[in-house]
Amino acid sequence: MSENNKPQQVKKLDLAVRSALWLGPLKSQAKASGKKGSQPKAQLGMLKNPKGQLVDVLVAKGRIVSVAPAGSLDVQAAKEVDARGLILLPSLTDAHTHLREPGQEYKEDIASGLLAAAFGGFSNLMCMANTRPVNDTASVTEFMLEQARKSWPPAVGVGPRLYPIGALTKGLKGQELASMADLKDAGCVAVSNDGRPVESTELFRRALEYAHDLGLVVIDHCEDPFLAPAAGVNEGVVSSRLGLAGQPDIAEAIQASRDVLLAEYLNVPIHLAHISCEKSVAVIRAAKARGVDVTAETCPHYLTLTEDEVAGYSANAKVNPPLRPQADVEALLEALADGTIDMLATDHAPHAAHEKEVEFDQAPCGISGLDTALAVTWELVRTGRLPFDAFLRAWTTAPCRRFGLPVCTFAPGDPADFLLFDQEAQWVVGPDTMQSKSKNTPLLGRVLRGRLKAHFLAGKSIV
Ligand SMILES: [Zn+2]
Repeated sequence: MSENNKPQQVKKLDLAVRSALWLGPLKSQAKASGKKGSQPKAQLGMLKNPKGQLVDVLVAKGRIVSVAPAGSLDVQAAKEVDARGLILLPSLTDAHTHLREPGQEYKEDIASGLLAAAFGGFSNLMCMANTRPVNDTASVTEFMLEQARKSWPPAVGVGPRLYPIGALTKGLKGQELASMADLKDAGCVAVSNDGRPVESTELFRRALEYAHDLGLVVIDHCEDPFLAPAAGVNEGVVSSRLGLAGQPDIAEAIQASRDVLLAEYLNVPIHLAHISCEKSVAVIRAAKARGVDVTAETCPHYLTLTEDEVAGYSANAKVNPPLRPQADVEALLEALADGTIDMLATDHAPHAAHEKEVEFDQAPCGISGLDTALAVTWELVRTGRLPFDAFLRAWTTAPCRRFGLPVCTFAPGDPADFLLFDQEAQWVVGPDTMQSKSKNTPLLGRVLRGRLKAHFLAGKSIV
């Protein structure tokens, strides 16, 4: 933007979003002034005492031209949007979803998953390999990408982008490495054995080396396969009361320890999926302090719900790893704020109602999360439990930089992927308000605050 205060003329804009509330720094201003680090920093609790500013977002050819103080640029655009009263956020990236196609489309398919992503505020989705057939060949990856492109409304021409995660071993069986080079060529951005951790440390070592040679990061579901086979409930007070076999937190922390030691020894990167407990946080924190190239994610449900959710044998709260006690929730929030946990991911795991309406120990693990993730995690920001800059990093820059995906930071030239959010709008979680085919969430029937009002991808309105 201009060095003086006179309105500046910018030509041929496609979109101008007016007077949205932005709570972060202004990148175009930073460039103009030549100074770095001089922008106001987001503060805890700032939303009770807003320190943000009203901005106009100007877009041409699918990219950000400028984000400038409202009214400071004298421009006209082909499309004008009045965003007064709404918060501006970059679109989110979800590094861990299950979209069930091919093979289990009654739970979810790629089109319904991407629709839930559009309404949930996500521009990028990484989908896990545990489809049927497993995504362990280029043909499955290519099929997924084709289904994603077909799901975009032709009149708009864009939609949330799908980034498949390839299988680490053939059939996820943990016996033989998958053809990771083919998977990468077909479009996979990472590899994982998903919910079936590789038992053989020797094979896992070779997988880490092979993936690293190809420039792929291995994502590991940390769970000692002997200590805790998918119990879906934490080993503790609640599991004892219900008479269920629980999963101890050390089942996760033991595997996380193995993983970071291997990554350190081999000098390769590793990403740890859905971290749920304080003991794993300690492992990751110590590894990062030693310089290990480890990143980690946690999920909205581990930050907001506890093991008490399963007290009534509620299968919708059955998830792997399981919900933990409050002390773990606090440790995860602290770790997310200080960067020990790099990113958020939904681990969106849709299941049909009839599959969850069975005895607790028979029900599959998983929570449907794409529809609720934004509101649930924004509530942590709104109430001062999570700093705004940590929220932004965790949902945008951290996953995008780790896995090489496009990201909007509102700098000129960035993809114009952003959303407008009404943080006061209240809504009830239920079949009418969720886009995912599956409604298996412990939040069913609860009132959430904060609702997406508009979503732009490459400057085009998709919601
Ligand atoms: Zn998962």
